[in-house]
Amino acid sequence: MEESAKELGMGASQSILGLGKEGLEAWLAERGEKPYRAKQILEWLFVKRVESFDEMLNLSVALREELKSCFHLNPLETVEINGAKDATRKFLFRLQDGRLVESVFIKASKGTQGEQSERQTLCVSSQVGCAYDCKFCASGLAGFTRNLTTAEIVAQILKVEAESGEKVNNVVFMGMGEPLANYTNLSAAIKIMNAHWGVGIGGRSITVSTSGLAPQIKKLADDTEAQIRLAISLHGASDEVRTRIMPVNDKYNLDRLFEALHYWRERRKQRLTFEYILIEGVNDSLDQARLLGKRAKSVGALVNLIPYNTVEGLPWKRPSEEQQEAFLRAVKSAEVAATLRREKGGDINAACGQLRLRREAELGVSGAANGE
Ligand code: SAH
Repeated sequence: MEESAKELGMGASQSILGLGKEGLEAWLAERGEKPYRAKQILEWLFVKRVESFDEMLNLSVALREELKSCFHLNPLETVEINGAKDATRKFLFRLQDGRLVESVFIKASKGTQGEQSERQTLCVSSQVGCAYDCKFCASGLAGFTRNLTTAEIVAQILKVEAESGEKVNNVVFMGMGEPLANYTNLSAAIKIMNAHWGVGIGGRSITVSTSGLAPQIKKLADDTEAQIRLAISLHGASDEVRTRIMPVNDKYNLDRLFEALHYWRERRKQRLTFEYILIEGVNDSLDQARLLGKRAKSVGALVNLIPYNTVEGLPWKRPSEEQQEAFLRAVKSAEVAATLRREKGGDINAACGQLRLRREAELGVSGAANGE
């Protein structure tokens, strides 16, 4: 069955940012235009970053008119930017159909003084809302609305760079949504982000984070040429604990997930990362820590422990600092690399995990509350 335009998240006109090189070449060929025009157009889009087709001066007026009648440029409109220039900034964007998504821009200096190597991470959203219903996460609270289009994913980078005047050099799919449930648009977006004719971000600086969709993990291992990184939101080291907080574990339990992770490992060079939020009395026992260590060791994963951030409307809290440190030590005793986020909020995971659709209700976007 063909996917409807609504499912694909398209309006009457499509954004040109999602086409990619091949798509553009095909579109040009249908019109009897020379293939090198694709290169010119891509340069206007991704290097010169024009804001209108009229600025594409090396194209004929007729071609510019044809482009205008088929496409729009950036599909995002900035609604609001929150946060200080040197810290974490949240960008709220309105899509063409009025829906809202957020991206979070996080600057973190790496290394010692003198070196100005700064990691400028953008945490991007892949869907409006989320269907996976993880019990600790704010993004799923209002249900699932729709997939983002390829253009809407890529455009988050371009828009943040235009608004901030800064360069994004690291992308994490840890915003709203389950990226692997939007597989087609995700892969197309990764290709455009990574391509030298596109945004030009190295594969190692692109991380896909998933709640554990096993079949799609294998597919990604086979399909994606770029050496992207994969992060797994684990949050429970036994089926019993994980199922309680992540319903997706009923569908793909830890055996199936780890089978997929072994498959990934056999085909890819980049290390896996496990994300594990520490929630008091839920998944923070030392038994879980030891099991987590064993599991991480079995697939050579790095473990990232993240103290739970309180979400309005959810009952949990983070464990004491002593318990967090004890958990960390128990994980490390399995001889795996593990880190514990000690920053007080504002860090990547905390900020990203707390994107939700509350603003849709405030701004009167229809159907926001029930995800229609
Ligand atoms: N669906 C994908 C992408 C969402 S990112 C996935 O599940 O990986 C999900 C991440 O956000 C979690 O792994 C966690 O690191 C973070 N997160 C979500 N809710 C959080 C909370 N309440 N406190 C801290 N981090 C949270």
